[in-house]
Amino acid sequence: MVLEQSQLLSSMVWRSSLLNWYDTNKREFPWRINVSPYQTWICEVMSQQTTLVVVLPRFNEFIKKLPTVHALADVSDETLRSLWAGLGYYARARNLRSGAQYIVAQLGGAFPQTFEEWLKVPGVGPYTASVIVSICYGLPKACVDGNVIRVMARLTGTSSAEVWSESGRFQIQNLADRVIDQSRPGDFNQAMMELGALICRKQTPDCASCPVQSVCRANKLQIVESCPPNKPRKEFIQLQLFALILSSGSESARLCENIFLAERRQGFLSGTLGFPLIPVPDV
Ligand code: SF4
Repeated sequence: MVLEQSQLLSSMVWRSSLLNWYDTNKREFPWRINVSPYQTWICEVMSQQTTLVVVLPRFNEFIKKLPTVHALADVSDETLRSLWAGLGYYARARNLRSGAQYIVAQLGGAFPQTFEEWLKVPGVGPYTASVIVSICYGLPKACVDGNVIRVMARLTGTSSAEVWSESGRFQIQNLADRVIDQSRPGDFNQAMMELGALICRKQTPDCASCPVQSVCRANKLQIVESCPPNKPRKEFIQLQLFALILSSGSESARLCENIFLAERRQGFLSGTLGFPLIPVPDV
């Protein structure tokens, strides 16, 4: 895959247009009002694979109940589970708590201030680290998520499905790191994400209102619809499982009088509590 980057690198005026657009169109979110590493970290992890409509009320509740990294490090499993209800992928919540415990135990509760130090926090990967250090510490680390891949693919007129591969992502990351606004890296990252969410949408992009239309190659070549192609679908496997229901009471006893065997699951449905699951044997 070859990214046509010249129009993005030759003049950086488009970055000012993007940032001006962001200044007047950005959505108000609680984590944008009180910018802190703690809130940025929580909102970023909550937003992974969960829509903002679901995240917003859960975020406010979470911060109210656990306002500091110390409170998160000490939270019980039960409270954490109830605060995470509805967000899915509970392993993310456990990782957050492990990260908080690391920050409290190893760093005395002080947040790391560099990309490399954030990567040492359990559960924090390069994307999350980039979000936090660019927004909270003004470090020029580009954040590349699905929205940004789509915007960059369109800006460069790349209609290869390779943009979704590891090597494609690497190229996009490289380009994003080169074009990121050095004086406002956090705003630049958020502006790219906001552009992808509000204007350069997957379906029906609003090119007429786009602040960077003048440098968009896909728009110029009129290939926006095919740019980039859909992400290749993941392969699904079918699982057939028996749920093993063992209870202490007799069949005639009322359900609530029985004690049932439950387990904390590993692997499939990891972290959830439920009846033991056994694969259905092949016949
Ligand atoms: Fe996306 Fe259209 Fe803007 Fe290009 S001009 S970046 S396709 S919204």
